[in-house]
Amino acid sequence: MSDFTRPTIMLKDSFDRTIDYLRVSLTDRCNLRCRYCMPEEGVEKFQHQDILSFEEINRVIKITRELGISKFRFTGGEPFLRKGALEFFEELTIRDIYITSNLAIEGLDVERINQLKLGGLNVSCDSLEPARYHRITRWGDLNVFIKNIKRVKIDNLKINVVVIKDFNEDEIVDFIRFGVAHRATIRFIEKMDFTPDDMEFSSLQVIKQRLIDDQIIGPESYRIHNSVSEYHPLIGEQGSVGFITPITNSFCAGCNKIRLKANGELKLCLFGKDSYNLRDILRTEPDDDRVKSWLTEIIRYKPAEPIIKKADETMAEIGG
Ligand code: SAM
Ligand code: SF4
Repeated sequence: MSDFTRPTIMLKDSFDRTIDYLRVSLTDRCNLRCRYCMPEEGVEKFQHQDILSFEEINRVIKITRELGISKFRFTGGEPFLRKGALEFFEELTIRDIYITSNLAIEGLDVERINQLKLGGLNVSCDSLEPARYHRITRWGDLNVFIKNIKRVKIDNLKINVVVIKDFNEDEIVDFIRFGVAHRATIRFIEKMDFTPDDMEFSSLQVIKQRLIDDQIIGPESYRIHNSVSEYHPLIGEQGSVGFITPITNSFCAGCNKIRLKANGELKLCLFGKDSYNLRDILRTEPDDDRVKSWLTEIIRYKPAEPIIKKADETMAEIGG
């Protein structure tokens, strides 16, 4: 198959959902310790020998593309912390790759990232006030994020903001203005429970209604493909604001994604307890067709929705 040919096969789960989106975690390591994502001491690191090599990841991309996966997002942990990540992205032959990053690495080669043929870059920032940013990330410096984002020149830039009760609810409009100024789409996210923390989620339904009442966004909404985000247009400005509401409005019915952890375990549901060991299959099975059969079989175990929306692992391990 040539690099840009769309596959005709479709990967279907047992609820007839088409699975066409794979999130690949490049590493479980991170330079920050966001309170809702990782405990301060970090998490037990994956064994070095269990981390998929770039060659193995490339094989997974080839195989899953042939099974109908058309969107790949690289995440972590912090993907740009992995040695060789930039070279890996530069050498990828698939088009329109997507990356999620905290953009909080001092000295990050943003100009090189700008040269990648990215379909989109999502970056994360939960406060525009330096003390708050430091508090939520434990180790982060807002100046580093700001310095980096000012250098980004990528059309599809989104800023993920996890909204937390009594923490950053008063920064909603500031974020929207920041997004307009930096030609980025702001996406507000409801906090999920991944690691014990003292932070309470804030309902985005309430925040959204307030923005509609204040005529900052229009009441009409839309989704792009199977995006988890519901978008509302900005009034009087170009662009839109996204709302990701895993707690108050489940989007499981349209779920089209699976996740590959950095150690090669496949997660079919963000909150699911089970992981499926693709690493061992890759390392013992040289025949791609057999790996495809295994994947096609495993996909059938994707649950309709999680029993509870609470995970045993951190988002950084799963690959957010
Ligand atoms: N380190 C990168 C970053 O922060 O963008 C990529 C990995 S991070 C796990 C991906 C996204 O997951 C971030 O936007 C982060 O805010 C989000 N996230 C992590 N833990 C979360 C939680 N408990 N609830 C909601 N979103 C969460
Ligand atoms: Fe690191 Fe991203 Fe998790 Fe923050 S949200 S600790 S930046 S992986």
